[in-house]
Amino acid sequence: MNKAEYKDMWVYIEHDGTEIRKVSLELLCEARKLCDAAGEKLAAVLVGELPESEVQKILECGAEKLIRVSGAGLERFSVDAYTELFTQLCRKYKPSAVLVGGTIDGRDFAPRFACRLPTGCTSDATQLVYDPKTGDIEFIEPAVGGKMMAVITVPFVRPQVGTIRPGTFKYVPGGARGCETIEERFDFPIEKIRTRALSFRADEYDESLNIADAEVIVCVGNGLKGADALPRYRELAVLLGGKLGCTRPVFDRGVLPYKLVIGQSGVVVKPKLYLAFGVSGAVNHVTGITDSDTIVAVNRDPEAAIFGYCTYGIVGDMDEVCDAMIAQLKARA
Ligand SMILES: Cc1cc2nc3c(=O)[nH]c(=O)nc-3n(C[C@H](O)[C@H](O)[C@H](O)COP(=O)(O)OP(=O)(O)OC[C@H]3O[C@@H](n4cnc5c(N)ncnc54)[C@H](O)[C@@H]3O)c2cc1C
Repeated sequence: MNKAEYKDMWVYIEHDGTEIRKVSLELLCEARKLCDAAGEKLAAVLVGELPESEVQKILECGAEKLIRVSGAGLERFSVDAYTELFTQLCRKYKPSAVLVGGTIDGRDFAPRFACRLPTGCTSDATQLVYDPKTGDIEFIEPAVGGKMMAVITVPFVRPQVGTIRPGTFKYVPGGARGCETIEERFDFPIEKIRTRALSFRADEYDESLNIADAEVIVCVGNGLKGADALPRYRELAVLLGGKLGCTRPVFDRGVLPYKLVIGQSGVVVKPKLYLAFGVSGAVNHVTGITDSDTIVAVNRDPEAAIFGYCTYGIVGDMDEVCDAMIAQLKARA
């Protein structure tokens, strides 16, 4: 394979017909930087209809090409149709990279079309770096339980496919650059769709479980004695105008839901204030909090790794420190 024949970095635009999922915009902004480093063009692949105000967001992230795909069988996400679509589009246009949000749909179809091409697909990178010597993207992510950082590349084939979790990168549009629109027609035979959505019922929306954009987060770790000890942390979060989050062991113990897990396999957060109670500071967790403005850690072990990441550290019993904070906040009210 001649890698030089493969040009342009693509971002798949995931949307629900009215709004673009934020992860796609985050990826556009990150891919913009990669394209600048590589001297390549940034292309967005949009399947189906979307209001023009949303399309404008794509342009403002600096996309230079917009591949708009319409056709039968694409009205709603279908892993069969989207896998075939991206296999064909990649064969036709030969992009150097395709970045897809690490959502339920993205994780479903990206490895499949990568496999059909065939090329490599990597998931959950927390950093993307363009290497000018090789022309490859380095997908960097914590490995071996966070003890090392793995640098994964797709050195011999193209495109380089990657799924990236929501919240990993920042959505900071750098401005429109002038964009060429390419219309593509693709009809996928309905009878070839093996898995079909028969109906759709949304989860009951619970705002307290949406922590990605919270400005204050009170995170409870495995030091938590049990569910009985939780109310004080909820109270502290409310007093600070924030939300509750947790580490993975707290979810594994069945104390809090998965949507509150922060870190590599959970949510990446960027609050102004992050309070960690009974959190050891494992890399898999810390990966999700490094963009916090201020980190306060409470741990009874003065050697805990979390103290290497925090702005302020308190050595002490988490419940006692939490109670003292609540008392102080109430005294000030
Ligand atoms: C592939 C992979 C992905 C992962 N993804 C994630 C992820 O997304 N998020 C995540 O959180 N983890 C993740 N993990 C798990 C991660 O490696 C750690 O095991 C986890 O983060 C540890 O959670 P913890 O700090 O709450 O628990 P522990 O490591 O058990 O630490 C508990 C801490 O509480 C302190 N403590 C105990 N009692 C008290 C007390 N009374 N007062 C004060 N301090 C006390 C202890 O000193 C200790 O430091 C992942 C692991 C793997 C292998």
